[in-house]
Amino acid sequence: MNYVNYEKYTAWMRKIADVKNAIAVLSWDQETYQPSMGADFRGQQISTLSGLAHDLFLNPELEKVLADLQTDTSLTDSQKKNVQLSFDDLKREKKYSTAFVEEISKAISEAYHAWVKARSKNDFKTFEPKLKKLVELKRKEAELLGYENHPYNALLNLYEPLQTVSDTDVLFDDLKKELVPFIKKIAEKKQPKNDFMFGHFPKQNQWQLGIELLKQMNFDFNAGRQDESVHPFTTAFAPTDVRLTTHIEEKNFYTMIWSCLHEGGHGLYEQGLPTSHYGLPGGEAVSLGIHESQSRLWENMVGRSLNYWKGNWKTVQQFFPGKFENLTAVDFYKAINMVEPSLIRIEADELTYHFHVIIRYEIEKLLLDGSLEVADIPAVWNKKYFDYLGVKVPNDAMGCLQDIHWSHGSFGYFPTYTIGSLYAAQFFHFAKKEIAGLDSMIENGDLKPLLEWLRKKIHQHGRLKSAKEISEDICGEPLNVKYFVDYAKEKFGN
Ligand SMILES: [Zn+2]
Repeated sequence: MNYVNYEKYTAWMRKIADVKNAIAVLSWDQETYQPSMGADFRGQQISTLSGLAHDLFLNPELEKVLADLQTDTSLTDSQKKNVQLSFDDLKREKKYSTAFVEEISKAISEAYHAWVKARSKNDFKTFEPKLKKLVELKRKEAELLGYENHPYNALLNLYEPLQTVSDTDVLFDDLKKELVPFIKKIAEKKQPKNDFMFGHFPKQNQWQLGIELLKQMNFDFNAGRQDESVHPFTTAFAPTDVRLTTHIEEKNFYTMIWSCLHEGGHGLYEQGLPTSHYGLPGGEAVSLGIHESQSRLWENMVGRSLNYWKGNWKTVQQFFPGKFENLTAVDFYKAINMVEPSLIRIEADELTYHFHVIIRYEIEKLLLDGSLEVADIPAVWNKKYFDYLGVKVPNDAMGCLQDIHWSHGSFGYFPTYTIGSLYAAQFFHFAKKEIAGLDSMIENGDLKPLLEWLRKKIHQHGRLKSAKEISEDICGEPLNVKYFVDYAKEKFGN
């Protein structure tokens, strides 16, 4: 009898996943191949399907099945966990009234259009009233969801469950303390040469190199593909159909490779989620921070290491005849690891990147608890950029208007970027300890053992283990800034 209920729950959740994955196909197409005139109807199609998915999930029949299953002692541990997580998801979803969802989606759409305009006119004032409205609604959302201690926790937990403001404050303060003097010291040193990273790198050759590197990291092209888009991203319709996109600039060799490795890292995680849990929490990524840890690990710990480039140096030289002739892998390694404080987050290096995140996090917290007015964002932003990075912000387009996130109402999202990098360093430390000879494997292009390790420790669990449990199991402790700091000092100290 109970078994019937679990079957019913599973079938129901899979139906919802089918609708959501159909939305994902439409959204992927929107960013890759859709002709511009298709935009209006596409928006309508996505919104219709979103409504269907929402109604399916909030159906009282499903709620009843979940409530019954909660008291069912015959379920296995992973079945129990799936049921509990779905029940929690449902409870959270029910807190949003239809009126609130409509109000916020209208506010987001208006804020987004205002942001596009404000950025092109370089005028924060155009964005200000719409952002103000959105911040008010986000405060309301935090109240609806409920929280302990700080309203920001409610929003942060939408992306990083169980992570709190007080944990994050400690992490970020430690990171600041370590990185500020370290970056100053690096800035006093002579910068390596990097002129060879600019010039002409034919698109076709870059594309092919990207594919080769993805194959080398064991991204399965029978269960995924790569296409082009303006902003690289990863999406999945199932673990057996994972889509990556990349962006190529012919004049700048810094763009393509690390976007491929980054998205490839996200893609490997998606391909590693268990198909047996399709549609259930056990088949979903555990958090954005853990997702980002996978992309960062492949992009930075592997893809910006000397061993990796020693191994791939001949390939790069062959792909671009004459470009890197008198250079060594060491020259290349130095050029791709330059540290330089800058204004734009997405162009920042591995170290200064975190200040871009911390600044946004600090501002978001102040907005949420009401101690900062939206009108004062530019002044606070510019001051923090000067205090932390020593750079002067010339205008709002290069300052507080650069990112899309706030116009999308994504408050609480930014910290997951840094949390992901910190997890990446921590996991990689233990991967090196447990996989004998990992460095030389990386040099030989034998990346399978690392992937298998990540599969076993992280990917296969979906949401059945929390981020904290994953960290405890791998490292015997929760997230700790020390591993990133050690990694950074060893790498950049040289
Ligand atoms: Zn990412």
